[in-house]
Amino acid sequence: MRTKIVAGNWKMNNDINSSITLINDIKNGLAQKELNVKVVICPPFTSLSIASELIKNTPIKLGAQNMYFEKSGAFTGEISPLMLKSVGCEYVILGHSERRTIFGETNQLINKKIKSAVDNGLKPIFCIGETLEERELGKTFEVVETQIREGLQGISETELSDLIIAYEPVWAIGTGKNATPEQAEEVHLFIRDLISKIYSQKFAENLIIQYGGSVKPENSKDLMSKPNIDGALVGGACLIADSFIKIIESAQ
Ligand code: PEP
Repeated sequence: MRTKIVAGNWKMNNDINSSITLINDIKNGLAQKELNVKVVICPPFTSLSIASELIKNTPIKLGAQNMYFEKSGAFTGEISPLMLKSVGCEYVILGHSERRTIFGETNQLINKKIKSAVDNGLKPIFCIGETLEERELGKTFEVVETQIREGLQGISETELSDLIIAYEPVWAIGTGKNATPEQAEEVHLFIRDLISKIYSQKFAENLIIQYGGSVKPENSKDLMSKPNIDGALVGGACLIADSFIKIIESAQ
């Protein structure tokens, strides 16, 4: 039995003051609710410390949106897994399509980051997904398979015990145009089958595969009621406490 995980990717939004307001609103909205869903917030680096303080004694967990694979050193502007751990992060988003397309991250770099995250006790939320052009050319499965094979290359099933995969079709991110539950389920099933071939069936059965791409309160229930969709990675809608809470409730 897989427990659903709803994670909010704040992207480059919210300074300290607006982070405090948003976290308090989420906390208050979730108070007194029996949650059988895991909830993760991923604020920008500058708000991780205050977020960590504010979510103490709540079921909300903390994640970062990126990290570098080295532990320390001359890597100006980068953040290490040890730094994320020290500020209270349990999760880290890796391979987000914005990192791939805007910042040129390759499957090989993402592979190093995933290895480093698990070596340092962070749970990776590993994002994969095809562009619109790739989907229209019928290459969705091929693209997703390459991202998974290269992203997880050389990392064992035991090391990946806390892995989460987020299937995020690039054409659905921030566009308001989500994949239909059927389109998403088809790819999630493909991912689970592929993982069972690369690793074991047991590992694949226990793997959390989130869907991401224009998830909103209006579509989240239908998406997450599909058998292979184990939660959501939410961008835009997680910046409004009420929407994020409704999405969490729809996963219950
Ligand atoms: C994301 O950034 O991971 C995402 C899914 O964004 P949005 O929900 O805004 O499409």
